[in-house]
Parts: sequence; structure tokens; C-alpha cells
Amino acid sequence: MSNIEQTLSIIKPDAVERELESQIKEKFKSNGFTITKEKKLKLEKSDAEKFYKVHETKPFYNDLCEYLSSGIIIVMVLEKENAVKDNRDLMGATDPKNAKDGTIRKLYGISIDKNSVHGSDSIENAKIEIDFFFNN
Ligand code: UDP
Ligand code: MG
Repeated sequence: MSNIEQTLSIIKPDAVERELESQIKEKFKSNGFTITKEKKLKLEKSDAEKFYKVHETKPFYNDLCEYLSSGIIIVMVLEKENAVKDNRDLMGATDPKNAKDGTIRKLYGISIDKNSVHGSDSIENAKIEIDFFFNN
């Protein structure tokens, strides 16, 4: 039985600025993901606030939204079997210090806020996030 899923991935401003786009995409491809949609853009802060609304009560919310809207990002739909979980595993822990060897955040993340990539955390949120960027 096939279990093809889609998940949303973002290459965050710190990684775009350091020109890590092709290395990170290669990491996805070599781990079996297909990039089925992508766009490069810069968010308004108000868009970042909508995107990260689940975190609106957290102390880091304002800085997070400032940061995500501070530079160019690359937004992608990734597809493969079990894409949501497999992408979370490939990204590694939120704080690069805790990320396992070989994960994107271990390789490229600078700090908990500049951790190079976003990835949807559930199938339901993947649908919402893909809609946010691609269905309007
Ligand atoms: N974040 C932060 N400080 C924290 C926790 C999270 O700056 O103490 C940022 C971090 O960049 C993270 C994002 O907020 O990627 C969203 O947090 P979440 O807990 O959803 O982590 P993720 O799903 O990205 O691993
Ligand atoms: Mg999250």
C-alpha cells in the first residue's frame, strides 16, 4: 500500500543568505524526496504572524516572525512516502545543538532561532501550510 504524503519545507533566511539552497535541496533529493512545488519569496511580517499563529502566545513569537520575514525564503512542497515524519527526522531537533549527526540542522543550523529549515509537524498542518503558500 502506498503512503505518499506531502509536507511543507522552508529554507529560512539564515540558510538562503549563506547560499545553502542547493546543498539543502540535494539533501532532500538524496533522501528520496521529490520537490513538487517551490517558490522564492520574502514575507511581510503580518504573513509570518499568520503562518506561525500556533506560537502566538510563546515568548519567542515576535522575534520568530521578525526573523522569518527578514529575508528571502524558499518554500517547497516535498513528496514521498511518510514525508511528514521523514522530513522531521532529516531536519533534526529544533535546537541544532541537540540535532543528530547528518541532519540538516546539525549540518547547517546556527542556533535555535536560526535553524535553517522549517518542516510541517503533522499531516494536518502540512495541508494547512501548503494551502497557505500555494493555494491562493
Ligand atoms: N524557536 C525559537 N525559540 C524557541 C523555540 C523555537 O526561536 O525557544 C523558533 C525556532 O526557529 C523554531 C520555530 O520557532 O524552528 C518554531 O518552533 P517549533 O517548536 O515549532 O519548532 P520546529 O517545529 O521548527 O522544530
Ligand atoms: Mg513546528
